[in-house]
Amino acid sequence: MTTEAPSAAPAPEPTSPVQAAALRAGALPPVEEVRPGVWTLAVPFHGGVPAATLAYVVEDSAGDLTVIDPGWSGDGSLTELRAGLRTIGRSLEDVALVAVTHLHADHLGAAAAVRAVSGAPVAMHGAEVRALQDERADAAANDADIATWGLPDELRAGVVAAWGTGRRIGRGAGEPPYADLLLEDGDVLPVPGRTLTALGTPGHTAGHLCFVDEPDGLLFTGDHVLPRINPGIGLGGRTATNPLADYLGSLARLEPYAHLEVCPGHEYRFADVVRRARTLALHREERSRHVAEALDALDRPTLFEVAARVPFSGGIESMTGFLLASALTQTAFHADLLGRADEVRPA
Ligand SMILES: [Zn+2]
Repeated sequence: MTTEAPSAAPAPEPTSPVQAAALRAGALPPVEEVRPGVWTLAVPFHGGVPAATLAYVVEDSAGDLTVIDPGWSGDGSLTELRAGLRTIGRSLEDVALVAVTHLHADHLGAAAAVRAVSGAPVAMHGAEVRALQDERADAAANDADIATWGLPDELRAGVVAAWGTGRRIGRGAGEPPYADLLLEDGDVLPVPGRTLTALGTPGHTAGHLCFVDEPDGLLFTGDHVLPRINPGIGLGGRTATNPLADYLGSLARLEPYAHLEVCPGHEYRFADVVRRARTLALHREERSRHVAEALDALDRPTLFEVAARVPFSGGIESMTGFLLASALTQTAFHADLLGRADEVRPA
């Protein structure tokens, strides 16, 4: 639910060689203690992309646990989460707080099940809760958008299924309330003896949060910044703002945190988030240039015609469903950011 293909720019060196090796081998990395009382454990996302989420467990001064992004829970059995906690001598019953970076099923999916077992409140940005509540209305509006994109007939049904009324972004979110504690930028999580501060980083989704742990030298980045993958943009609910503009602003917000070790939601831990953020921003600049060139070359093109000229990795002709919808919406965000949205002709 997150992604595009790995970017061409060199990926940052891992600070966790064991996670990087597991990724290369297509295996789940083992539970690792990142700092005293801070662990990471991998939760598989069966049938999803990427194939696993990195969940983080933080012990507070009372001995209780905070779980950051509990990952996906297919049948609610929480088998992997239970097993991971067992290896550090703990159990789900010890969880006192579930903090979630964003609404996607591979991050939020297990939260409701963890809450049911432990009674722990779920903390998330209010924009994510609203996006889940608005999902049906958004899906209908997405259907209307899709009809204007100029898609070949044979591709349209798959896009509607993956992006329009067939889509469920909150898969696994459970029933409302999706969160018990609504977070905003700058909020400090109620975790005794730790300092975990929410950093608003909209773009991937409207209410995406990173969590900053200065005392431990850690930055939990969810899907905002990953070591190899270019995070997709605008993959939450519909927004009044341009998610690409939001994302670029959110990359710039990481400038003060170059000294922290990056704990991403997927792949492996790494250092120097600022360098990685600049690489990701450059990638977006390049894509804007390609969209501008397509608009220069074509006379009143449809969105599909513009996107067909953008060198997406793998090529748009290989894309269907979610990937295709994501490529097209991102093309629209770029056209809008260039101030040239009106040059795209609704089909
Ligand atoms: Zn995501």
